[in-house]
Amino acid sequence: MTISEGPLILMPEHSSTLTFHVEKGDSLSTLFNKAGLSNAVMYSALESAPKEQQNKFTHLNLDQLFEFTLNDAGDLLAVSTKPDLLNTYTLAKQDNGYMFSHNAIKPTYKKVYAYGSINSSLFAAADKAGIPHAMIMEIANAFGYDIDFALDLRQGDVFEVIFEQKLVNGKIVGTGNLLAARFTNRGKEFTVVRFTNSNKVASYYRADGTSMQRAFIRTPVDFTRISSKFSLGRYHPVLNRIRAHKGVDYAAPTGTAIRAAGNGKIVSIGWKGGYGNAIVIQHGKTYSTLYGHMSRFAPGLKAGSYVKQSQTIGYVGMTGLATGPHLHYEFRVNGKHVDPLSVKLPMADPLSAKEKTRFLEISQPLLSELNENKALSLAKIQADKDSTADTTDENTEADSAE
Ligand SMILES: [Zn+2]
Repeated sequence: MTISEGPLILMPEHSSTLTFHVEKGDSLSTLFNKAGLSNAVMYSALESAPKEQQNKFTHLNLDQLFEFTLNDAGDLLAVSTKPDLLNTYTLAKQDNGYMFSHNAIKPTYKKVYAYGSINSSLFAAADKAGIPHAMIMEIANAFGYDIDFALDLRQGDVFEVIFEQKLVNGKIVGTGNLLAARFTNRGKEFTVVRFTNSNKVASYYRADGTSMQRAFIRTPVDFTRISSKFSLGRYHPVLNRIRAHKGVDYAAPTGTAIRAAGNGKIVSIGWKGGYGNAIVIQHGKTYSTLYGHMSRFAPGLKAGSYVKQSQTIGYVGMTGLATGPHLHYEFRVNGKHVDPLSVKLPMADPLSAKEKTRFLEISQPLLSELNENKALSLAKIQADKDSTADTTDENTEADSAE
């Protein structure tokens, strides 16, 4: 427990301040009690706050800061809390009850560059490069249509990022947006740039201005392994004869969420012979997808329902002709089955010519910054290596043996 006493600015002369950081098991009531205040005082202070703001005082995070200002008699003059480094909420005594106020500090934004190469995991490399975890998730999300971060990463892959840090008085208080990133995966380079289009929607685009987002996600389920690929002739273990397999089977535990591959309309939902519980989604005129062997459907869906890309539509099971829990997934173009693993997925809507010009005005300076900073980082890494080589030969040998 941290307690500090001292005068608070703008408070009567004879006052003292008690500071607490929320600890495990604390509630607003235990904090008031620690300050020598009763629950009755707590309720009278709290009810002065607007209903929708009361949770700022009652939903506590570990380590959240509380300050109680008391007069010499120990009566509450003010209580304030900082749920984060940018916001302060205060209830201050007035002639009739307490007055609620909210003080928000506007952070300044600073662009930061980070460079990392992967030795074990992406997270380990990101930690080393000083990139917060939330930013790594954003990077994985930005590249998600082109790189599968669970399957495609290799030792020696390199990433470079420009992102925003939020600062208050020079102190980092949070992370802003990912502005640009480049990922060299198995020698192949991928670049993304954040861009806000004229509809004020921000998303990620490649260096040439094509959208990262596709009309379809490649894999509609988090799977353990691909248990059966697309083929035109395959031995069917249940039917005991050769039969075409016009989809892909993704083995996954029963109950794993199945996601809609793209925006569309459910044209059939229910029992469908050997497919068991199945859903067929029509995506525009050209495409349709089928999801089979589900244990159950997501609640509220029916024929005619519109679904969004990545929306959960049901759960993995083994209904119909199946020897184990898996998703059977089919992709049809103009009614004809194609291999979902190799079909060229159509892109999301491209930028208009006017937006493309604005995009390049934003992306080109960011790409130059990536290039300049990369050169600096590589020079620094080389200089560090050289200085290690000069001083200790043993270390150099150990390094090269890794
Ligand atoms: Zn199948």
